[in-house]
Amino acid sequence: MCRHLAFLGPPTPLATLISAPEHGLLRQSWAPRRQRNGTMNADGFGVGWYAAGDPLPARYRRAVPMWTDQSFADLARVTTSTAVLAAVRSATPGTTPDEAAAAPYTAGKWLFSHNGRIDNWPRSAEALAATLSPARLLALEARVDSALLWALVLQRLDSHDSAADALVRVATDATWLSLDPRHRWPR
Ligand code: GLN
Repeated sequence: MCRHLAFLGPPTPLATLISAPEHGLLRQSWAPRRQRNGTMNADGFGVGWYAAGDPLPARYRRAVPMWTDQSFADLARVTTSTAVLAAVRSATPGTTPDEAAAAPYTAGKWLFSHNGRIDNWPRSAEALAATLSPARLLALEARVDSALLWALVLQRLDSHDSAADALVRVATDATWLSLDPRHRWPR
């Protein structure tokens, strides 16, 4: 599993949240604690944050391990935020390896991160993918289960679901439909 960080609080440098803690995301990228699946989180990383006076988040993503990116170390030292979402990635087999697959995902004011995987990707996700509009499927940012889940959440947000409802419904659908691909919609 990847490792994720979500923060809401007083203005805090990204480095204080991510690099400085003994078991922060930086360290967890090469020496995660209590990780049951995978040994490292070296398949890229991403950080999204909200800056004062701007409703749209900023985002920085790379396909390389966090510890190799000196530019991020500098950025993290001088960038302060009150709301941050970040992840270091352990890619699910068969998914896109590039930066577009690294969390967090974003659209408008939203940031989204997903921990976990759809087993037997992509075959097991067929029924789930069929619940996404063809245009959204074609516009998927990366061939990865997380991007599909994010597109499904976004589809629900655009249909005026609350954020909580969208997340719960997509998580329920994903569990149900990917457990047994023979399940068809509506159930
Ligand atoms: N399945 C997602 C990916 O491949 C997240 C993986 C994870 O949580 N380890 O990026």
